[in-house]
Amino acid sequence: MSATLGTLLKLANPKLKVVMFERLPEVGEESSNPWNNAGTGHAALCELNYMPDSADGSNPSPAKAIAINEQFQVSRAFWSYCVEQGVLRAPETFIRTIPHMSFVRGEKDVDYLRRRFQSLKDQPLFAKMQHSEDPKQIAKWSPMIMEGRSDQPVAATWIEQGTDVDYGAITKQLTEWLVKKKVRLETSTEVKRLYQYADGSWQIWLGGANPRFIRANRVFVGAGGWALKLLQGAGIPEISGYGTFPVSGHFLRADKPELVAKHNAKVYSQAAVGAPPMSVPHLDTRVVDGKPSLLFGPFAGINPKFLKEGSVLDLPKSVRLGNLLPYISVALKNFDLLRYLIKEVTKSKRQKFEQLREFVPNAVESDWSYYEAGQRAQIIKPKGRVGELQFGTEVIASTDGTIAGLLGASPGASVSVAAMLDVMQHMFPTELENFQSGPLSKTVTGYGGGLNADAKAAASHLRKTAKVLGLRA
Ligand SMILES: Cc1cc2nc3c(=O)[nH]c(=O)nc-3n(C[C@H](O)[C@H](O)[C@H](O)COP(=O)(O)OP(=O)(O)OC[C@H]3O[C@@H](n4cnc5c(N)ncnc54)[C@H](O)[C@@H]3O)c2cc1C
Repeated sequence: MSATLGTLLKLANPKLKVVMFERLPEVGEESSNPWNNAGTGHAALCELNYMPDSADGSNPSPAKAIAINEQFQVSRAFWSYCVEQGVLRAPETFIRTIPHMSFVRGEKDVDYLRRRFQSLKDQPLFAKMQHSEDPKQIAKWSPMIMEGRSDQPVAATWIEQGTDVDYGAITKQLTEWLVKKKVRLETSTEVKRLYQYADGSWQIWLGGANPRFIRANRVFVGAGGWALKLLQGAGIPEISGYGTFPVSGHFLRADKPELVAKHNAKVYSQAAVGAPPMSVPHLDTRVVDGKPSLLFGPFAGINPKFLKEGSVLDLPKSVRLGNLLPYISVALKNFDLLRYLIKEVTKSKRQKFEQLREFVPNAVESDWSYYEAGQRAQIIKPKGRVGELQFGTEVIASTDGTIAGLLGASPGASVSVAAMLDVMQHMFPTELENFQSGPLSKTVTGYGGGLNADAKAAASHLRKTAKVLGLRA
């Protein structure tokens, strides 16, 4: 997020003086590291949780799926622009085509997927989606999922134009460009506290080998899971009542070339009852540093850290008078979720492997290893005096426009450009205007929504960005 914002700002106004602080020795090693997330270019092409079923059995509304897809298109457009401008390197270093597939079992879900497809098939950004309830066709799309499966009803949708993205590579490449443009990057330097001066500027307390404080007119808190605690420390009223609900994630990973060669898709299914939406099981082809692997998960768990490299005191230390009720109410209202998480944590590795077998009936345990991915810091949003667990991301900005931060997780990285353009709107309206009247208006199509409503513009955008990014059109 910070690397994206920095790049947008420097493109809009090369004279801006920008400084970046990173507490780890390198950038892009927390949630954005390719092994800490699933690398899906979230465009709602396969993620069923972005398009929940209707209450009355009618075709579900595609509105949320379209909104997420449109936000992803803003990222695609911006990355294309960056490739053309030499800001990002060759596209195959960070993005590639991996088909996206939804796969469901049982009458109820088969019916839902059929209706989901009906809602999406005529939407321009989903135009190439296919649907099948024929096991032979599904086996052609993903042999691994169908081999050894008994013939209960199954259904799938398939779209060739899905993507796998290395968000860590994007972070590192954007940061390298920023450093070349004279942005000062200080790694192994933790931002400890933020205080506002009477004139509105900020005093930033820094830890690390050279503890000191600096002064800045504007501060963006792109601290991932730690954004909550820095914004709380800054004392802005807009953060009052917010909390963070951390969910840890583990995946199974297979690297054996003959196994990896048998599957080429990101396959998302339905979440178990009580499971948080981000825990929908998926079997993914992942390519990191040019090397393909298979990933299955996530297995959610309870861990009070807000960052993988965070502290177990993150959650308890984030409780304030203002968010105590929201925290308690979320715990009480989401009992199914808590029960699910406790069940997940107490599962043995063998039981977790059985979940993979529901997806890949012939999976062999010795082919797969278990590893820990990043922490998801889900938002607890105040609603009246209580709180609500919210999925997705949210920009929290002060009314004076001097500070903003980003809370939340998936579809996070996929929609980073749209999220950072929103930050610019709050904090750098002049730079946003510069960008909009310059390159943004011509190349970053789709910002502000509406792309899907214009079939011609959507098709042209998809064709153009596919060409620049080397993706299947
Ligand atoms: C298991 C999992 C799967 C996911 N799958 C996907 C997916 O498939 N597709 C997708 O689009 N998104 C996915 N996401 C979400 C995505 O990874 C995040 O939304 C995105 O990477 C967040 O980027 P960020 O810059 O906000 O945070 P981060 O990448 O976490 O970066 C924050 C940085 O701030 C640094 N920092 C923190 N506090 C301080 C401080 N006080 N001082 C200095 N530096 C600090 C951290 O060290 C870190 O480098 C997933 C997340 C998880 C956990």
